[in-house]
Amino acid sequence: MIETLDAPLQDTLGREAEVASSTALPSDSGHAGAGETAAASLRIGREAIEILQCPGCGGALSVAVDAMQCDACERTYPIADGVPVLVVPEKSLFDIETFTNAEPTFFRPVGKVRELISGCLPDVTLNVSSDKVYARMLQQMLEISEHPTVLVIGGGVIGGGMDCLVDDPRITLIETDAAIAPRTSLVCDGHDLPFADQSVDAVIVQAVLEHVVDPHRCVQQIHRVLKPGGLVYSDTPFMQQVHGRQFDFTRFTRLGHRRLFRMFDEIESGISCGPGTALAWSLRYFLLSFFASDRMRAAVSLASRLMFFPLKYCDRYLVNKASASDAASAFYFYGSRSETPLSDRELVASYHGGF
Ligand SMILES: [Zn+2]
Repeated sequence: MIETLDAPLQDTLGREAEVASSTALPSDSGHAGAGETAAASLRIGREAIEILQCPGCGGALSVAVDAMQCDACERTYPIADGVPVLVVPEKSLFDIETFTNAEPTFFRPVGKVRELISGCLPDVTLNVSSDKVYARMLQQMLEISEHPTVLVIGGGVIGGGMDCLVDDPRITLIETDAAIAPRTSLVCDGHDLPFADQSVDAVIVQAVLEHVVDPHRCVQQIHRVLKPGGLVYSDTPFMQQVHGRQFDFTRFTRLGHRRLFRMFDEIESGISCGPGTALAWSLRYFLLSFFASDRMRAAVSLASRLMFFPLKYCDRYLVNKASASDAASAFYFYGSRSETPLSDRELVASYHGGF
């Protein structure tokens, strides 16, 4: 990882956490023990707690009211407002205190006036595929399990098209993020997912992999935590300008994205945001390039949304055109865990762009 933080975990906590034994997770007996009380105060549910593991060593975690502790390496992880922070600072970009102090990472707070104006303006981005892919995924995950467990990486806010999963009571969503955001129930780093091997039925990683320093390692982690045949949905940009400031590292062509998921069988893939969205982003960022002050950039950004948003509707027409996949804004991949990698010859044979 990029940064190594020197402070030992105990010092960043500033105290020794009071930790219950590993047998004190919520029990079926109905007796409210210390672990049950602790677990009840968490934003994640029992199903998620049962599959957690130490992101440092893979050991079992014990749960207390204000912290979790690894039974193997004795590393302690704080719980901030009901959100466990399962991050190992020396393996991550982030310090524990970033989250316990609720400091912004990816999501930057904006003023109420700007938020109000922004809420009234159309967006320049249109995801033309996610509604139908998520509907298909919902159907297929319910064929795998009556009550599927779905890990959402970067789930601090709801991804476009995900509402059908959020609204379905049969689905257990574990919404994780490296940011304290409205729906974050667990803070973790995608490079070291704190979940047991083969423990979840599906993983969603939408508009996230461009923001991690090592997407290949994150996808290896996704493969590790998925049950055999488990499902993955990934949506990642190709032609998009830098967003998320310093937390933006990589872009993928359609084949680059497919190779990233070479240890998965493809169910379907394609354009999620097309050339219309890509052009709207380009025009917006072209205008933004002329301005340095935050105030002017905010004004130009909002105005450009009003000027360029109609371009995105071209994508409804372009989404199924082969020539558009050389110029798309973003691609999705929907597949299932495999044990056999896609070969690079098969990969290049799957090109079906415009040339
Ligand atoms: Zn450990």
